[in-house]
Amino acid sequence: MIKDFEYFAPKTLKEALKLLDKYQDECKVIAGGQSLLILMRQGLVAPEYLIDIKGISDLDYINDDGKGVRIGALTLHRTIEKSPIIQKHCMVLSEMERTLATLQTRNWGTIGGNLAHGDPAGDPAPVFIALDASLKLVSAGGERVVKAEEFFQDYLEVALEPDEILTEIQVPPPPPHTGTAHEKLMVMQGDHGIVGAAASITLKSGNGVCEDARIVLSNAASIPMRAKKAEKLLIGKAITDDLLAEAGEVASSEADPPADVHGTAEYRREMIKVFVRRVAQKAQERAKSS
Ligand SMILES: Cc1cc2nc3c(=O)[nH]c(=O)nc-3n(C[C@H](O)[C@H](O)[C@H](O)COP(=O)(O)OP(=O)(O)OC[C@H]3O[C@@H](n4cnc5c(N)ncnc54)[C@H](O)[C@@H]3O)c2cc1C
Repeated sequence: MIKDFEYFAPKTLKEALKLLDKYQDECKVIAGGQSLLILMRQGLVAPEYLIDIKGISDLDYINDDGKGVRIGALTLHRTIEKSPIIQKHCMVLSEMERTLATLQTRNWGTIGGNLAHGDPAGDPAPVFIALDASLKLVSAGGERVVKAEEFFQDYLEVALEPDEILTEIQVPPPPPHTGTAHEKLMVMQGDHGIVGAAASITLKSGNGVCEDARIVLSNAASIPMRAKKAEKLLIGKAITDDLLAEAGEVASSEADPPADVHGTAEYRREMIKVFVRRVAQKAQERAKSS
């Protein structure tokens, strides 16, 4: 049963930040409630005050100002999936959203809520880290921008202070000859990934040698995890099938996957090999044709 709480529905960011500043650890921000309400029903989170930010329409936007794509934290998953700006500049985000949860959840859950929840099985985080995105965190006292990669600290723990709201995700334009891909292993369409992988590959102009690689895994550790040894293996080499298979092996050995009813740690390690090889291959092909 959910413990009683006092409910606020601010209409502006300023109003929300003022409430957050006042109640700090005693309060919780709620966006779509798709993840928070589950924790509240289980009694794992029991805030005295609930600050519902869903009505702050200023945080629902997607734009491209030539210096990259900016996504407001209250943008719905479904809006990102369907956005012509996203499809033009970061198609991989739209592809990822298509596999995230059900249509009903995508129509209510927000991108900011997904990231702030800090679930290592979440789909957007690996893609944003592969895209080298940054997150804007705002409090009544000011704002700061952190790399998506540094935002995730432990299982369901992120780098948000109690008085901060995540307001925006900033995706820089990719370097030339870059391709990005994401896939996850699901039993049924819309399930959380048993494991997932995103890769971004940048090729040197003309010769197909890998200039840069970012490989990020979901549900493979307590946070969305960069497979840095696998990345290092690819950088500076011409990508071949054997090298991709080796990168999968290395990424698998770097991971520390959980074991649960959906799969043992060993099974996840095997699947990481497959999914890293697959997304790196796809990212490379996209880089070639970009
Ligand atoms: C049936 C089901 C299936 C799902 N499947 C998937 C899946 O396959 N892949 C996947 O990635 N996710 C999945 N999810 C999670 C879903 O993506 C949610 O959209 C996501 O967790 C965020 O939900 P929300 O916006 O409702 O956030 P809420 O539940 O409202 O909030 C989540 C957390 O973030 C905090 N928060 C929210 N917004 C902000 C903000 N702007 N600033 C600071 N803190 C904030 C809240 O305090 C809370 O701690 C699934 C959820 C359900 C219910």
